[in-house]
Amino acid sequence: MVQAWDRPAPEAAPQARVNAAGLDLPGLQRLLADLGEPAWRGTQLFEGLYRHRWTRWEQFTSLSKELRARLADTVDLAWPGLVQSRASEDGATKHVFQLIDGKQVEGVFMPYEGRVTLCLSSQVGCAMGCTFCATGQMGILRNLTAAEIVGQVVAMLDHHGHPAEIPVNLVFMGMGEPLHNLDHLMAAFTILTDLKGLAIPPRRITVSTSGLVSGIERLGAHSKRPRLALSLNATTDEHRSRIMPVNRVWNLDALAQALGRFPLQSGERITLEYVLLKGVTDSLEDGRRLAAFARRFPSKINLIPFNPHEGSGFEPPDEARVGALCRLLVDAGLTVSVRRSRGQDVAGACGQLVRNLRPGARPTPEAED
Ligand code: SF4
Repeated sequence: MVQAWDRPAPEAAPQARVNAAGLDLPGLQRLLADLGEPAWRGTQLFEGLYRHRWTRWEQFTSLSKELRARLADTVDLAWPGLVQSRASEDGATKHVFQLIDGKQVEGVFMPYEGRVTLCLSSQVGCAMGCTFCATGQMGILRNLTAAEIVGQVVAMLDHHGHPAEIPVNLVFMGMGEPLHNLDHLMAAFTILTDLKGLAIPPRRITVSTSGLVSGIERLGAHSKRPRLALSLNATTDEHRSRIMPVNRVWNLDALAQALGRFPLQSGERITLEYVLLKGVTDSLEDGRRLAAFARRFPSKINLIPFNPHEGSGFEPPDEARVGALCRLLVDAGLTVSVRRSRGQDVAGACGQLVRNLRPGARPTPEAED
């Protein structure tokens, strides 16, 4: 049976004018070549867009006035608009971005000591249909373009006046299954990591998948790629298939085999994210099965006590149980952290991001070191 995630997601409608925002270096060089300009002008444009984060043509003072005027006449410079920002008491800020077709996605800015983590969306809606996630209940509306992915980063860093010397981590745990939009994700990754631009190290970028094995295999074929996290959330096939329909196609064993084949670099580990739902996924037996799964490939585990939200039907685990599970996993020789999602009071935490929807939810942020 063909699943929603087997089909390519719909794409953004083509625009009448070229948009420089979101083009990579070769794309910008081609754009300027079409205007009769040399290739190095494309590098200047790239640096202006991504290193200086200039958002208006008049700011591109590295280009001649005449060239700026020609660009303004013929080429758009359109990032997603930041239409709403809501700060949480814990310091996280949830942002809403309006896309060119009026659709909206969300991102979260989370400052930590000595670093900042941005949680990004990769699609409008999602095809994966996880039952605990309101984005999943929307279905898939369309992929984000590379410009719309990079634009979330540019807009959030600008909004918070983020200084270039403070490290930035990016986590694709907002709306969408990033591996269902791998082409645009990798195009954005190329731009985000380019040393002439935002220069975010690849190891500071993590994509979180629901277990889309075809996407895991395609991601593994890239020699330069983001790190991988798996949103695991259940330790039996019966249970996981109930909350994450993708498990009906690639069960836990198939998933572990795919992760075992995933070509990791020296010292790299796959992050396992495990949401603890009281009485559903938080038994000690779950802990033992989680340990057995995690030992099948180099991994580290994030335990995430559930963020309660209206209509979810789930409860957060008892603290004592969180501690007991943590001890069990550590005793099994695994690396474990307990992640307290940030932004809960503004519905920006795990399972709480959702737009254009009925009341709902969506995945979360994490901070790398
Ligand atoms: S949890 Fe992630 S993969 Fe699952 S439906 Fe929500 S956005 Fe999609």
